[in-house]
Amino acid sequence: MSPTVYFVIPCYNEEEVLEETVKRLTAKFDDMRQQGLANEKSRILLVNDGSKDKTWEIITRLHGENGYVEGVKLAHNRGHQNAVLCGLMTAMPLCDCAISLDADLQDDTDALDKFVQKYLEGCDVVYGVRNRRDTDTWFKRTTAEGYYKILHVLGVDVVFNHADYRLMSRRALEALSEYKEVNLFLRGIVPLIGYRSDYVYYDRHERFAGESKYPLKKMIALALDGITSFSVKPLKLISNFGILVSALSVFGLLYALISYFAGWAVSGWTAIVCSIWLLGGLQMLCLGVVGGYIGKIYSEVKARPRYRIEEFLQQQPPKE
Ligand code: UDP
Ligand code: MG
Repeated sequence: MSPTVYFVIPCYNEEEVLEETVKRLTAKFDDMRQQGLANEKSRILLVNDGSKDKTWEIITRLHGENGYVEGVKLAHNRGHQNAVLCGLMTAMPLCDCAISLDADLQDDTDALDKFVQKYLEGCDVVYGVRNRRDTDTWFKRTTAEGYYKILHVLGVDVVFNHADYRLMSRRALEALSEYKEVNLFLRGIVPLIGYRSDYVYYDRHERFAGESKYPLKKMIALALDGITSFSVKPLKLISNFGILVSALSVFGLLYALISYFAGWAVSGWTAIVCSIWLLGGLQMLCLGVVGGYIGKIYSEVKARPRYRIEEFLQQQPPKE
């Protein structure tokens, strides 16, 4: 029996790419159905993440024209991670497995067959991993690779060079639904699920139309979420740092006392001012880090809903 596969696609202001994306994925499904990799209940689930352009109008029209297309409209822009989660949770009761991918088809669609093949071999999670990063700018490539290394050092278990192109079985999705955190970093949560997993390697293409919806500000926010939602090592580093500075200050104190009694105490103004500034700065930095965690606790204890679905355009199930 071929599986019911859902393609889950978050869309934020993607009017320029949607038509072409749906066209290519429709062709993909036709092809996969012939190969027995997907059945007639498989769908393309487009999640409109509070777009300000015509994205939802296009989704509504495509839903009418194309039997594969379903649409979910979020009431607000909740960001990429929440949009993906919403799509996966909507697909969960309807599918055997769901694959999340970007609307701009930067993730190679030729690799989709391999994902499903791995699923049929018994994997619950299949991670898409980039072969190369030469379509990214030098800045994005170095920061991204450096970031994965930092995560590794901080003890966060993520798959190197894997973004959010991945397949999850229904069982894995059910496990994911038990993670209630509001500060969502899916790349960190999915490895925690722990079922059998495998990798599919692919080449990442250029965005074929439109601009990136991930400006530097959102990228930094996601990167910090990745660290502060999964690692308390920064807190430990601060304490260690505090111990080190305190130890060093003992030497400073000794030096000051010796200078005083030896009578070669100079006016010392510079040293005092420097240390006030340095320590003041360090303290603020440390407070900032601690504050970051408290901010997280604040939003977690409130446990507000992570997204709200305003409308769900579903296809009729095929007649038996
Ligand atoms: N996206 C979203 N909500 C946002 C920002 C982005 O749903 O607030 C979607 C976007 O439509 C795309 C995916 O997330 O499908 C990845 O965004 P993009 O391609 O702009 O990021 P990049 O590939 O440049 O990192
Ligand atoms: Mg992109």
